[in-house]
Amino acid sequence: MTLAVQIRQHGGPEELQIVDVQVGEPGPGEVRIRHRAVGLNFIDVYHRTGLYPLNMPASIGMEGAGVIEAVGEGVTHLRVGDRAAYASQPPGSYCEVRVMPAKCVCKLPDAISFETGAAMMLKGLTAQYLLKKTRPVEGLEPGDFVLFHAAAGGVGLIACQWAKALGLQLIGTAGSDAKCQLALDNGAAYAINYAKEDFAARVKEITGGRGVKVVYDSVGKDTWDKSLDCLRPFGLMASFGNASGPVAPFAPGMLGAKGSLYVTRQTLFSHITTREATQAMADDLFAVVASGQVKIHIAQRYALRDVQQAHRDLEARKTTGSTILTLE
Ligand code: NDP
Repeated sequence: MTLAVQIRQHGGPEELQIVDVQVGEPGPGEVRIRHRAVGLNFIDVYHRTGLYPLNMPASIGMEGAGVIEAVGEGVTHLRVGDRAAYASQPPGSYCEVRVMPAKCVCKLPDAISFETGAAMMLKGLTAQYLLKKTRPVEGLEPGDFVLFHAAAGGVGLIACQWAKALGLQLIGTAGSDAKCQLALDNGAAYAINYAKEDFAARVKEITGGRGVKVVYDSVGKDTWDKSLDCLRPFGLMASFGNASGPVAPFAPGMLGAKGSLYVTRQTLFSHITTREATQAMADDLFAVVASGQVKIHIAQRYALRDVQQAHRDLEARKTTGSTILTLE
């Protein structure tokens, strides 16, 4: 028997319970991985609360790193003993050992620690597809302005650094002056404390009235309307999360009135449906981390048994950068 975190119903952090589970052998296309560290992500909160519903009892967690213990039939890219890391569906990374689909599991380069691997796969692959694949029709050139909300968070701090490496002028928003400073220290060209400043007005000021080419918005309900006002004509609204709640339905006609805008709602799991696509994106992430252009900031560590507190802190906006669950 080994330990795993499960919920029996959707609800608050108190629903996260540590249980004993039996883990079997991997079937075709699967591997068994023994975690050395597990990544915490805001999507885990959506799974726990039921904003993204799960069948009960449900396992939680989408990111982890560890050692491959067993390999199922047909898996050729991983061997027993390999160091590996992943961002993957279905949820279930909050545990010591699991059996899971192999196609999203990548060998972890020797230079990257298990903790860093667990802290960067889901967040880093998200920053990768946002900055490299979620582009406005006009394209993005060095020097272009983009707006990135929650810039001091897990995805945010990676995006700040990667955008700088790409030559983009990233305007980050965050909920405190200290978080704004963190975004600036990590490559944001400008930072706006949206708890006390009107971020749309500031974006207009910074861009000389023109607006940005892309808004990357994971905050959702609270930022949606003003985010659209930050875009220049034909700009792209890249919605990818709902930390403040889901975006309300809207009339497409208003996109025309605001300058013929584009809107997309992206999810990482549309980008990593095949092993080849996952590996190509992971290679890009591993390279930018190995080059030192992107550093993974693990600002919080919690033991697996303290998972409830980890969720409380994440939801209360007390965390910055990446958070991991450690395993004794
Ligand atoms: P973060 O570390 O960024 O934590 C979320 C942050 O959102 C908070 O720290 C807070 O920063 C901000 N926030 C704004 N309003 C609220 C609110 N009402 N309650 C809580 N937080 C709020 O999390 P992650 O790095 O794990 O994820 C960032 C976002 O990206 C999440 O929304 C997540 O769902 C999304 N995501 C989407 C993916 C996709 O493919 N679609 C994949 C990965 C992540 P501040 O205090 O500075 O405002």
